[in-house]
Amino acid sequence: MLAEFIEAVAFAAEKHSNQRRKNVDASPYINHPIQLANVLANEGGIVNTDVLCAAVLHDTLEDTDTSEAELKSVFGPRITSIVVEVTDDKRLPKEVRKQLQIDHAPTSSHEAKLVKLADKICNLRDILNAPPAGWSLERKLEYVEWAASVINGARGTNSKLEKIFDALVEQGRALKEEKMQSGEAGPAA
Ligand code: NDP
Ligand code: ZN
Repeated sequence: MLAEFIEAVAFAAEKHSNQRRKNVDASPYINHPIQLANVLANEGGIVNTDVLCAAVLHDTLEDTDTSEAELKSVFGPRITSIVVEVTDDKRLPKEVRKQLQIDHAPTSSHEAKLVKLADKICNLRDILNAPPAGWSLERKLEYVEWAASVINGARGTNSKLEKIFDALVEQGRALKEEKMQSGEAGPAA
């Protein structure tokens, strides 16, 4: 079990080795998949190795040259199917992909919902603490509301993670008031 998880970490690290996150410091990409597994295990109490492996592998199909067949041959069908469930079809326009995430959340498997929850928790934390370079307040607020719409379709999955997510949404929404109080936001923000 532990060996399989370590293999997934090594596989994802190799696949994402030339990629960086979008924050100002351009953190190594692999930090993000590792954070998902950490949130699931240590904040959500998840011990299911399939879920933890799928978490560290969750962006390999979407953002690297990894194929579904390759994932299946190394990690088998169960882990692969979770990763497939949380992978957007990059051939579709961004707005369509974002709507599909909202539409598909309620019918996703329990395992995929857990990975989604952890992904949105990690991305909201990043938006609050190390946001993508150049994002306006408006864009951050749009992301917070979209993430809330996705996760509203994945309720009843893990109460600890949902509480953590909800608190982050509140913090995200509060960004607007903070800016207004500090006088930095214009009337349209
Ligand atoms: P992107 O998809 O371009 O960026 C968000 C994604 O980037 C995250 O889901 C995450 O995905 C990844 N990411 C990498 N680094 C970070 C980081 N440091 N912090 C957070 N996320 C990171 O953004 P969207 O297209 O989702 O933009 C949100 C909305 O904003 C869209 O609806 C878009 O139309 C709209 N928009 C608004 C603009 C505005 O100025 N108001 C301008 C342009 C777009 P992963 O987990 O897969 O790594
Ligand atoms: Zn992610």
